[in-house]
Amino acid sequence: MKVFADSKILRKTLQAFKKKNKKVGFVPTMGYLHQGHLQLIRQAKKHNDVVVVSIFVNPLQFGPKEDFKQYPRNVGRDQSLLMGEKTDILFTPEAKKFYSSEFQSFVTVRHLTQGLCGRRRPGHFEGVATVVAKLLNVVMPDTLYLGQKDYQQYRVLSQMVHDLDFETKVVMVPIVREKDGLALSSRNVYLSQTERLEALVLSRTLCYGETLIRKGARDTKKIKSDLRHMIKKASLVRLDYLEIVDAETLQPMVKLGSSDKALIAIAAYFGKTRLIDNVLVDVA
Ligand code: AMP
Repeated sequence: MKVFADSKILRKTLQAFKKKNKKVGFVPTMGYLHQGHLQLIRQAKKHNDVVVVSIFVNPLQFGPKEDFKQYPRNVGRDQSLLMGEKTDILFTPEAKKFYSSEFQSFVTVRHLTQGLCGRRRPGHFEGVATVVAKLLNVVMPDTLYLGQKDYQQYRVLSQMVHDLDFETKVVMVPIVREKDGLALSSRNVYLSQTERLEALVLSRTLCYGETLIRKGARDTKKIKSDLRHMIKKASLVRLDYLEIVDAETLQPMVKLGSSDKALIAIAAYFGKTRLIDNVLVDVA
């Protein structure tokens, strides 16, 4: 595995691969890798000649009161996991060089960032879209791999790629979970044992929501009220939001129709740790 910190050198190396018609797959991450990240890398390996993974804890996407400083980091461990997956290239830009002191250009995706996490984390998706636009300009991948775990991020970045004419296909990879249902996340290390147990309420609630819809429930107000009731049984939880939105537009849905694809999305705090999870449901 080759490791690059310099954008220009990486771009040149990748241009040489492209001249030889090699397909490049790209997996952007913030590191502290787990099986969820590795699943994205495995997908990329399957369908590309060269796989590039970036590790960059992007300061632009953290609010002033968020966990940028505490965010877990362990590049040594990450490198051995990446080598285990036969990753070809690791890109680890340095924040000061990646964003020069005169940096002042941002990418805004307007409508898809209004609800869900966008409402709770002002500036977050602007930070995400800006860093991924920069990374795409360096890597110029044929395919970008993103996890369903951050579904709103996937929709925002797909829209950006489309609107700004990036020559990249976007592929979404399903959520990887622990055996007991907890969605893998780098932030799970923050959880105490009790919080970790209570956090199972997220996947259980989503599963119940999916079952309700499959059994014919169509009134989202009623479904959301049933699901909120279930979540509130966990004593350590502080619900941030629970929404049922159209999977494409992310607009809240009132009545579910037979050809709709709905996303049930939850964000909740367990102690100081904010976790997100979701499920996609085809309303047949
Ligand atoms: P992060 O390092 O948290 O920025 O995540 C990097 C990429 O991995 C994003 O596309 C995430 O959606 C994806 N990802 C994180 N956790 C999971 C998971 N449990 N299952 C699938 N993809 C994930």
